[in-house]
Amino acid sequence: MSLEVVDTIVIGAGQAGLAMSEHLTSAGIPHVVLERHRIAERWRTARWDSLVANGPAWHDRFPGLTFQTHPDAFPGKEEIADYFVAYAKKIAAPVRCGVEVTAVQRNEGRLGFRVETSQGTLEANNVVAAIGPFQIPTIPQVVPQDIGVVQIHSSDYRNPEQLPRGAVLVVGAGSSGSQIADELLRSDRKVYLSVGPHERPPRSYRGYDFCWWLGVLGKWDNEARVRGTEHVTISVSGARGGYTVDFRKLAADGMMLVGSTEAFEAGNVTFASDLAKNVAMGDASLFTLLDEADEYVRRNGLALPEEPEARRLLPDPDCLMNPQRELNLKTAGVNTIIWATGFSSDYSWLKVKAFDEAGKPEHQRGVSSEPGVYFVGLPWQSRRGSAFIWGVWHDAKYIADRISTRRRYLEHHVVKSEKVDPRKATGGP
Ligand SMILES: Cc1cc2nc3c(=O)[nH]c(=O)nc-3n(C[C@H](O)[C@H](O)[C@H](O)COP(=O)(O)OP(=O)(O)OC[C@H]3O[C@@H](n4cnc5c(N)ncnc54)[C@H](O)[C@@H]3O)c2cc1C
Repeated sequence: MSLEVVDTIVIGAGQAGLAMSEHLTSAGIPHVVLERHRIAERWRTARWDSLVANGPAWHDRFPGLTFQTHPDAFPGKEEIADYFVAYAKKIAAPVRCGVEVTAVQRNEGRLGFRVETSQGTLEANNVVAAIGPFQIPTIPQVVPQDIGVVQIHSSDYRNPEQLPRGAVLVVGAGSSGSQIADELLRSDRKVYLSVGPHERPPRSYRGYDFCWWLGVLGKWDNEARVRGTEHVTISVSGARGGYTVDFRKLAADGMMLVGSTEAFEAGNVTFASDLAKNVAMGDASLFTLLDEADEYVRRNGLALPEEPEARRLLPDPDCLMNPQRELNLKTAGVNTIIWATGFSSDYSWLKVKAFDEAGKPEHQRGVSSEPGVYFVGLPWQSRRGSAFIWGVWHDAKYIADRISTRRRYLEHHVVKSEKVDPRKATGGP
């Protein structure tokens, strides 16, 4: 039986795979996009019910299509998924849904890759892994599963009604943890929020959203940090029209802030002594951005209204000044722990030399150490914006360009070995 041969196979039809498809089409590169579920599946089934985009509609989008909503609004998760379905249609992306890639291997003794899928085997010259940075929910092994407390990851949280009655410990105060904790508090739950290191930008300042400030200050383009130190959680929210995440405000509303979750013994969860330090780090990141924004306004002579109240902090709550280091779950009535502790990756199916010893992609701006294998959508792939909707589109453009160049080198080989008239061949790389 003959194998289907495609020049380039893109794996995953989230935003990364669709951006890739658009740029491959523009470069005239034949390709297919293989998606095991549906287009933008994670926005439909791996997010909580009330989730909205962290950035406004004018910002969190691809250049080629606007959202149907007001540009300053924060689209809901279904709207975002619908947006990507519409986008796929607009660019006529050759997506095949319901096809899971189970193994990719380099061909022996000849060019190309063998791509095993749930629907049969294909061959490709190039493979792009666009499977997303947030694949496997990570729950640190701190609290045993058998202590009679429901433990879920933030990706399995849907709404307050889903949880058993009683208090909730939310671990992690990035965008997911802080938003989920806020929603639970508003539904009259007692909430303990374990706050780790984070950055805390203002939602808006002097009339402009922080996404705009990061753009004009060039911060989305900050280049990759030292490997392994890339990830600092950002606490930001578009919920209820968007607000600045303020841990002192949450405490004033009744939330109990605690430090990083450390250990569990005899019914007690213990917390590190880092709460004040972590909150101070978040405050410092806020003030740094306000200072840089003020400097930008001054240097460029912009007439933006001053906003001194953005610098005002509420008084330190008692839980911040005298942090609780131990929580007896039973006494506190905690029946649920939500781990908003991030994700890891699984590339076990990609059986090529594109990984370092720790199993992390080895790449430069998504071009891997295995010629013909590419990544798109990695956090900090080329810059801070890489894993986000607007950033991945630019990284995908670069990858399409690299694939195009590689194709020209390979074509040149064909031309020479088959003695084709070189004047009829395509241009140089
Ligand atoms: C809670 C949360 C909120 C976020 N909010 C925002 C936001 O507001 N704005 C923003 O810009 N970013 C946001 N992000 C970050 C990022 O935009 C999303 O995570 C986005 O889903 C990443 O897109 P992606 O295409 O890289 O990956 P994904 O959306 O995860 O898509 C990857 C696709 O690959 C498929 N796949 C995986 N393995 C295989 C396989 N072996 N074979 C076939 N298919 C496979 C999956 O089914 C999936 O559909 C958020 C992330 C999270 C977790």
